[in-house]
Amino acid sequence: MSNVTFEEIGKVLRDHRRFAILGHVRPDGDALGSQLALALSLQQLGKDVRVWNEDGMLEKYSFLPRAELLTKPPSTAEDVDVAIALDTAIQNRLGTALAAVGKAKIWINIDHHPSNPGYGDLVIVDPSAPATGEIVFNLIKSQGLPLNHDIAENLYAAISTDTGSFQYPKTSARTFEIAAELVRAGDLDVGKVSQQLYENYPRRRLELLRELLRTMRFSESGRVATFGLSLRTAGELGVIPEDNEGLIDHLRAVRGVIVAVFFEELPDGKVRISMRSKDERIDVSAICQTFGGGGHTLAAGARVLGTLAQVEQKVLEEIDEAVKRAGLS
Ligand code: 5GP
Ligand code: MN
Repeated sequence: MSNVTFEEIGKVLRDHRRFAILGHVRPDGDALGSQLALALSLQQLGKDVRVWNEDGMLEKYSFLPRAELLTKPPSTAEDVDVAIALDTAIQNRLGTALAAVGKAKIWINIDHHPSNPGYGDLVIVDPSAPATGEIVFNLIKSQGLPLNHDIAENLYAAISTDTGSFQYPKTSARTFEIAAELVRAGDLDVGKVSQQLYENYPRRRLELLRELLRTMRFSESGRVATFGLSLRTAGELGVIPEDNEGLIDHLRAVRGVIVAVFFEELPDGKVRISMRSKDERIDVSAICQTFGGGGHTLAAGARVLGTLAQVEQKVLEEIDEAVKRAGLS
């Protein structure tokens, strides 16, 4: 699957009128920020743009400029010419938004997940990009599309969140250059955006962390760290799905730990696994793919049928194998 050029995508954007911009279910800052940024830029061009995500706008990202544009998708297909999937490694992770774009004639797929198979008519998958927001920025810049304060702040939020505040290994000199361009172009107040992103959590997120830490386990070697959340505890705390984004970083941050796993019991009889690696030799995307999931080398996930205990056991066995194969045990 080879990528098209930004020019080819730019032409489709200029030549059509009705767009739907989509992102993955259980969205993160990269999905939501990228969706809003591209939507606002196309709106500035005079296009008719819908911005749909199965989960709608998350409470914690509702400070993003023009966040109200992003809604849950309608249940029946609307007339759109072009569907644009952002940050979405496999098409069915668009969830209920898929049905709403059933009439789209052209599909554009812009993403940075290496596991993206390249669905759609025009594809740019760049696994070297630390965030889809970076690719959207390159598209906007290269095609001379509008870039104002609101667009810049959405892209900055996308890149800041997906790089773990400019810390993860794919953060490059180019990433900092783009961040600088965004700060300049949008006259962004970096302190204020960061505070809204990282210092504005509801108290229950910390209460959740307290419960997770109670369940924390380390493998004998200290290479693997896990914690888990049962439906019952989630119910008692009143947590909502967005509360746990980033909590796994506490496990990864422990000296000696290479793989961190978060197990979350879901109402549908499945367990959501969220996995992180600190070493390129342990590819958690490959491990998650054996359970039907995917993601990046150092950050991946899956949903697996079974109870917390069953899934934990199966997944830990698989990780143990991978750690042994890499000679790291
Ligand atoms: P997180 O652990 O933050 O939910 O997800 C980490 C990465 O793994 C994300 O880039 C996400 O796209 C990917 N990912 C998480 N859950 C799944 C899943 O169920 N299936 C696939 N294919 N990828 C997932
Ligand atoms: Mn992303």
